[in-house]
Amino acid sequence: MTYVAVSGLKASDLREMAERRWRAVAEARPDLSPAVDLQRHLLGLVVDLSTALDGRPVPRLSLPPKYVAAKLARAVPVFAGEPIPLPVPLLAPALGQCCDALAAGGAGDAATHIREAIDGGSIEVGSLLNASFQRDQAAIRTGATHRGLSPDLVWLIAELAVSPFAHRLQRMIFERVQPDQLREAMSAWTAGHCPACGSWPALAEVVGGSRTLRCSFCASAWELPTYACIYCGNGGETFVTAAPDEERKDRRLELCSTCGGYLKTIDLPELSPFPLQAISDIETTDLDVAAMEHGYARPALRSFARR
Ligand SMILES: [Zn+2]
Ligand SMILES: [Zn+2]
Repeated sequence: MTYVAVSGLKASDLREMAERRWRAVAEARPDLSPAVDLQRHLLGLVVDLSTALDGRPVPRLSLPPKYVAAKLARAVPVFAGEPIPLPVPLLAPALGQCCDALAAGGAGDAATHIREAIDGGSIEVGSLLNASFQRDQAAIRTGATHRGLSPDLVWLIAELAVSPFAHRLQRMIFERVQPDQLREAMSAWTAGHCPACGSWPALAEVVGGSRTLRCSFCASAWELPTYACIYCGNGGETFVTAAPDEERKDRRLELCSTCGGYLKTIDLPELSPFPLQAISDIETTDLDVAAMEHGYARPALRSFARR
């Protein structure tokens, strides 16, 4: 793969760019207005948190480049299984704020109950944030179900709160170290999951014909050497690219009937800076619907917990 560095923007420029895109989505698809309003609120919190993190020193990690390269060579994402200390006191307040935004944005009591569990100490925030950082869906699902909470909402809230840290860390590892010691391992990487955190991409952003996968969590951007299914590697006749809307050839689906997976792709003038890749995702929800109507799905997260 080729890792693609996506430059960040200062918060005010980021908000302006996001606002332009949200207005365009709401104009084209008025039915998405409530979803756009909710995303505006949630990503506002994520941007605030990113800004707060930027003002703090970069975490010191004992991840020697040789060790990272060896993991990548085995297709294991860098963060998997690493005891990386998270700045819990800084991230924790965002959990409650995301609950409030979701409660007001349509999730109602399901979100309020999560806030109560956090405030009351029934959810231990450090464990929750760590499980999310480690992409441990099973742990979060079990913990939520045990407390009578919605696993999907708990997953989302934790993901939003920890994503600015994951984003910062992946940039630190790949952009600072890569040019020298990680190049060989990076170029040998052919997997569809994120080389930093192991999540599947939310979609591919295509700029000037280059198909760049965008991690749904940490926003890593990477290009693969082959045009094939990102989930199973199939590049034969059962892997097709189609535009469900004839008028919008800039928005396509990659469909694999070997594994049943799909990936959305969208042409853009430039790659979205973190966390605006989430806007590309919401702009293309009709593609998710089209793919699912035809029986395609996104596979579950891969588990790297015990490697
Ligand atoms: Zn990632
Ligand atoms: Zn496939």
